[in-house]
Parts: sequence; structure tokens; C-alpha cells
Amino acid sequence: MKPRRMRIKNNGHAAQVEIDAAAAPRIDDGGLAGEYIFAQFHFHWGSDSSMGSEHTINGVRYPMEMHMVHYKTAYGTIGKAVQQADGLAVLGVMFEISQTDNPAFTPLVKALKEIQEPSMTIEVDAQYPLRAFLPRDVGAFYRYDGSLTTPTCNEVVTWTVFDQAVPISEAQMEVFRNMRNDHGHNLVNNFRPPQALSSRKVFMSYSGTGSDASSMKSLGLAVYFLSTLAVVVASV
Ligand SMILES: [Zn+2]
Repeated sequence: MKPRRMRIKNNGHAAQVEIDAAAAPRIDDGGLAGEYIFAQFHFHWGSDSSMGSEHTINGVRYPMEMHMVHYKTAYGTIGKAVQQADGLAVLGVMFEISQTDNPAFTPLVKALKEIQEPSMTIEVDAQYPLRAFLPRDVGAFYRYDGSLTTPTCNEVVTWTVFDQAVPISEAQMEVFRNMRNDHGHNLVNNFRPPQALSSRKVFMSYSGTGSDASSMKSLGLAVYFLSTLAVVVASV
């Protein structure tokens, strides 16, 4: 499904994108507890490409991470959903530096140049379905129950973090880094450092790259395979 319009905000601490609710895609399967409806996506990034992601994969930090936030359709609104343990499903996408621009992000990056100051908003025609923002291989992902990464950090999120990163150029990253925050500084390093896993279980989808036993060991985690091969974002 192609969203017709995207509303892009500099909210002072991230770049956030919303689409018309009527066009909002839904996700299910892939081990999720029901159907979730898309609400918004936003980005976390660093002041340079050595950092920016909130998750690490095999200890690797990425220059940027995108969060596609969905809430459980059954709860009706995102406000009600954040009060439920299975209220939100967030898809996490890592970015890695490529030599050339990623054309899927050209309209978004162009729009960000128009909203460099906090509280600015722009509406653009979306030329791509949301699928264009995801990695080619969406069959390989990590899954765990965790929290929102911003206060109040409610433990209401079913996380899906894709193993494969999406390319983006340094020139495109610079547009993110040139945005300004509420204090008149460059809007950078808006990520929360990785948290201790403590007793959490991390599941990994069974298909795709990186799911062999040796890479599991290098994670140093208790990792459990999901029995389902369903592609979680089939309907995005
Ligand atoms: Zn986030």
C-alpha cells in the first residue's frame, strides 16, 4: 500500500514521519501477538558514523537506526496501547554508509532540508511504499520484549530488529546532522545507549543470514529461534 502524503517533523529531538491513518499499513505474523497498525517512524543518529544506533548487532554500532512504531489494532489508539504489555510493535532498521545516495530516501532527505529548525513540519507526496525503507531481506531479524527508548521507557514494546542494514550515503547523513534541536545546537546523538539485557530472551528468525550457530555464539546472549518463518512485514 502506498501512503499518499507524509508529514515530516523536526520535533526537537528526532526527525519523525507520519502518514495518513487511512493509508496506514498493518503488520502481523512473524511471532507477533496479533495485528498492529503503523503510527509513525523516526530516526536516531550520531554526530559521526561511528555511532547513532540504539541497538548493536554482534557488538557493531551503526550510524543511524530507524524505528517504525506500530500499536496493537485491538487497543484502538496509541495512547491506550502504551498502557498494555503487548501494546506496541517497533521495527528497528540499521543503516550503513554507502558510496552513493540511497534513492529511496531522496524525497525524505530533501524535505529534511526544509525543516532544519525545531517544531518545523513539512508535508510531501510519498513516492514510495514504506517497504522501500526496509532492508531487502526482512526474513532475518531479532525479536525481544523491551521498552520504549525514550522516557518513560514503558515495557510495552515487542521489538523486531532486522539483521540486514539499509544503505545511506554520508551526504544524506549530513542532512540529518545539520538539523537543529531546541537548544540551537546540531541535533545529533539522539540515541539511548544499549541497555543491559538482564534476563531478557532474544529470539532470532530462523531464515536468512547470520543465523548460524557461530554467529549466535558471538552474540554472547541466550538466543532462541522463532519457529515461524513468516515475514513480519509482508503487508507493509
Ligand atoms: Zn526510537
